[in-house]
Amino acid sequence: MKNTIRLAAALLFGGVSASTVAGMTEWLAPQDPFALYGNTYYVGTHGISAVLITSPAGHILIDGGPAGAADQIAAHVRALGFKVEDIRYILNGHDHFDHAGGIAALQKMSGAAVLGSPASIAVLRTGQPDKRDAQYPDLVPFAPVANTRAVRDGDVVKLGPLAVTAHFTPGHTPGATSWTWLSSESGKTMHMVYADSVTAIAADGRSFSRNPLYPNARADVERSIAMIEGLECDVLVGAHPDFSDLWERKESRTFVDPDACRKYAANGRAWLAKTLAAEAQP
Ligand SMILES: [Zn+2]
Repeated sequence: MKNTIRLAAALLFGGVSASTVAGMTEWLAPQDPFALYGNTYYVGTHGISAVLITSPAGHILIDGGPAGAADQIAAHVRALGFKVEDIRYILNGHDHFDHAGGIAALQKMSGAAVLGSPASIAVLRTGQPDKRDAQYPDLVPFAPVANTRAVRDGDVVKLGPLAVTAHFTPGHTPGATSWTWLSSESGKTMHMVYADSVTAIAADGRSFSRNPLYPNARADVERSIAMIEGLECDVLVGAHPDFSDLWERKESRTFVDPDACRKYAANGRAWLAKTLAAEAQP
């Protein structure tokens, strides 16, 4: 039942289809920044995640929210006592405007290198949505991003003591990427996971499972869901905080939940099943 509620909420707010304006309001809703664990902080809006991983050698930011969120994210970094200019890398989850639209401005403010999968970087560099994407009719262009660099699956982004691993999790988009790292607090080390979206979504009139421009989408998303399910995972942040129970865990005063990635995977599978059932209709 909770899955049903979450799916309904996601359809209202998370998907870009038919509700871009309503979505934007939700995506830009204010949120005070807060510590997730150790050197890792939530700096996103209430609707879209952005994560800051800090070190004395500089910081790594994951995702930049929609275009209108860049100033909020920068203000959150400063409010936590860090300098935007010390962000050396910005990592991208996937190349949709609600997660990547703010990256161009944040890159300018920081001078950071922007890293993602080859498919994501191709979109970020131009700001033009990927025509293969089943959501293409609903996707809007965003400001092209400078200083980009493609990573390979399994690459480790290193910065001083920080090491963040790229895990390609395609399906929602061809280039979707999840990221993992370790954070320590009071002598305990946790496996941190930034899980990118694994929701099977198509725009009206398009099919997720029968998309001639991306025929592997279903197989990809199934493999990506299984990959996230199998990750060592103590603290999960989903690209959409609502999809990873982040606010429930915030209420409970601990972000540690060793089942979080399994629940995330179960939600992804439920979503896929619903999409496949709908697309099986004549
Ligand atoms: Zn998306």
